Amino acid sequence: MNIKRNILLNPGPATTTDTVKMAQVVPDICPREKEFADMMKGLREDLVKVAHGDPQRHTAVLFTGSGTINIDVCLNSLLPEGKKILVVNNGAYSSRAAEVCRYYGMPHIDQKSSVFDVPDLTAVEKTLDENPDIALVYTTHHETGTGVLNPIREIGAMAHAHNAIFVVDTTSSLGMIPFDMVKDNVDFCMASAQKGLMAMTGLSFVIGDRKIIEQSAEYPKRSYYCNLFLQYDYFEKTGQMHFTPPVQTIYSTIQALKEYREEGEEAKFRRHREVFEAIHEGLDELGFKDVIRREIQSGLVVSVKYPDDKNWDFDRIHDYCYDNGFTIYPGKISTTDTFRLCSLGAIVPEDIKAFFRTLRKALEENGISIPVTYNR
Ligand SMILES: *Cc1c(COP(=O)(O)O)cnc(C)c1O
Repeated sequence: MNIKRNILLNPGPATTTDTVKMAQVVPDICPREKEFADMMKGLREDLVKVAHGDPQRHTAVLFTGSGTINIDVCLNSLLPEGKKILVVNNGAYSSRAAEVCRYYGMPHIDQKSSVFDVPDLTAVEKTLDENPDIALVYTTHHETGTGVLNPIREIGAMAHAHNAIFVVDTTSSLGMIPFDMVKDNVDFCMASAQKGLMAMTGLSFVIGDRKIIEQSAEYPKRSYYCNLFLQYDYFEKTGQMHFTPPVQTIYSTIQALKEYREEGEEAKFRRHREVFEAIHEGLDELGFKDVIRREIQSGLVVSVKYPDDKNWDFDRIHDYCYDNGFTIYPGKISTTDTFRLCSLGAIVPEDIKAFFRTLRKALEENGISIPVTYNR
C-alpha cells in the first residue's frame, strides 16, 4: 500500500512512519484476551523506561483519550482533602490545568506569569512559603503554545522541600528532549501516543509513583471515568484497562516504541534538534522573526510573528502549504499574532528544506515581499 506522506509541522499529532500506520491493521481481537493484557503490560513497562522512571517505584497507567485526559486525571485524583494545588502558569497548557481546577472547584492558586518567559522561581518559592497547605505543584515542561522550556528540576526541588508532590505535563516533550523523572524531581509526568512516540491518537498515559497513587485511594473522588487510582488498581488486579482500550492505537504504539528503540534515544533527540535548527535557518533566510528568546526555546516549537505586510494572510499561506503536503499551525498567544512550526514526528531536515521552498513560493504567489518585513 502506498500512503501519501504529509509533513505535519503542527504540535501533534505528528508525522508517523508507514510501519506504525500499518501496525494497526491486525486480526480482530477482543481486548479482554490474555494476549492483549500481556501486550499492555510490556507497553506500560516500556513507557516507564522512556521517562527514565524506576521500575520498582514508578508505573504507567493508560487511558483512552487525548492528552488532556491526563491533566484532568492527575489534578482531580491527587489532591487530598483540605489541601491546595499550585499551578505555575506561563502559557496555554498550564492555563488548561487551572481551568480543570476551576471546573472541579478544587482549591488552587493560579500563579500566572508572562507567556514570553520562564516562571519567576523566587515568586514560586514565596507562594510555597506562604501556603503550607499546597500539596500538589503543577506545571508544563514544554509550553507548546509558545515553545518555552520550563525549569522543572528547580520547581520540583522546591515542591519537595515544601512537602508537595510535583506533577508535570510532559505531553509535548517526552521522548523528544532529555527528561529523567527521578533527576528532574517529578512524581507524575504524562503524554499521549501521538506526540513524542510518533504513534496514533487515542491513547494517553500517566507515569508516576505507585505509593502516591495507592495513598490517593483515600482522597476525595471527583471523577469516575478519570480517577487515577481506580484505573491503576484495575490494571494491577486484572492486567486490563477498566473500560475498552483503544485497541488499534495500542498496536501502533507498540510498533512505535520498537522503532524508538531502534532509532535510539540520543539519535532521536539529535534528529529533532536538527529539524528545529533547520526551521530556524529557513525562517532567518526569509526574514521571519520568532517571539521567544532562543535560549529558552524547547527545541521543538517555534512561534513565528506575522509579518507586517498588507498581503499577509495566514489562511492563504496555510492552504497553499497544505495543498503541497505541509501543515503549519496557528499560534496560541492571545496578545501577538503568531503561527507555529514544530519539529515533532518522523521528519528530517531535508523535509524542512522542502517546506521552505514551498513557503517561499506561497509568499511569492501572494505578493508578500521577501525578506518579509516588520514595522518594528
Ligand atoms: C498536546 C498537548 C496536550 C494534550 O492536548 P490534546 O488536545 O488533548 O491532545 C496537553 N499538554 C500539552 C503541553 C500538549 O502539547
